[in-house]
Amino acid sequence: MKTWIDSLRNEHQLPTQAYKELLTCSDADTIEYLHQQAREVSLSHFNNKIYIRGLIEISNCCKNDCYYCGIRKSNSIVERYRLSKEQILSCCKEGYELGFRTFVMQGGEDRAQSVEWVVEVVKDIRTTYPDCAITLSLGELSYQDYKKLYDAGANRFLLRHETFDSSHYKQLHPDNMSAEHRQQCLRWLKEIGFQTGTGIMVGSPFQTIDNIIDDIQFIYDLKPQMIGIGPFIPHKDTPFAKYNAGSIELTLRLISIFRLMFPSVLIPSTTALASLGNDGRLRGILAGANVVMPNLSPCDNRKKYSLYNNKAALGSEAAEGLALLNDQLKTIGYEISFERGDYSI
Ligand code: SAM
Repeated sequence: MKTWIDSLRNEHQLPTQAYKELLTCSDADTIEYLHQQAREVSLSHFNNKIYIRGLIEISNCCKNDCYYCGIRKSNSIVERYRLSKEQILSCCKEGYELGFRTFVMQGGEDRAQSVEWVVEVVKDIRTTYPDCAITLSLGELSYQDYKKLYDAGANRFLLRHETFDSSHYKQLHPDNMSAEHRQQCLRWLKEIGFQTGTGIMVGSPFQTIDNIIDDIQFIYDLKPQMIGIGPFIPHKDTPFAKYNAGSIELTLRLISIFRLMFPSVLIPSTTALASLGNDGRLRGILAGANVVMPNLSPCDNRKKYSLYNNKAALGSEAAEGLALLNDQLKTIGYEISFERGDYSI
């Protein structure tokens, strides 16, 4: 198995069977070897520096009804909010002063925050903070709308494909959503020129190892600049409330596989990983991740952007907890980078 890992590091690709064996392998030494190789690659590309992104959750209103998501349309218990332009700009001001040079605006597909409105917000941020990267994560839009946002000054877009297989996708989403359309959106984003991020939830209900292998293949073909891999975590007020959370170990394994596949890709150690285990964030970094996204949303709103149970948003998960995050990183030999951290080969 170690030969496969060496080959992934050197050739950046493996036959399907080898991925299957890696994902199902129960030998601890082999898995530690995988993580170690991924860590070496990450260190050789980024040194011991971890990029930070300030996450602003701009709205928890959503027209979609994804079965796994706590802010789905049919959840009548969640208290809805949408941030004003002034609130978003004030988050950016606070973030800039703390040292952030990337702002990520994420939200539900909230049509009350029209694309024209988001364009205005992006333009204002671009003018006020010309040295910052603007990342959007606002779901599925038309080619023209993505283009408007890019032309307004947004640089990056995160859109997890969630799962490549269309029948698995159907098990996670209502009929008005499709895997094909989401994948098409990703191709548009790349074509327009966004640094594009995709990814999956690990351990989503009904997911099989073959599904994950399809995801690996899809990501290999897409060649995104960012890859977000986080465990599924149930939310109590969704149809998937009774399902188990995804595995931390499998999530870490995938992070390492993608680090070896794409040495310079940006991989966050996700909030979901941090929410599942106290040391999840650090373990993600030791598996090859090189980005963290502390929460920069107004404190009053953080609890309401509740995608899954017990989502972490305090302490080192919060923008104002950067010093704590840096202390934690130091315990494993890493530190925060205040650079903008664009994708570069
Ligand atoms: N609306 C945008 C979109 O569709 O990409 C961004 C918001 S969406 C809530 C952001 C991500 O949250 C999704 O891509 C999904 O992977 C993740 N997510 C939602 N519910 C989750 C859950 N229960 N467990 C883990 N991740 C979840």
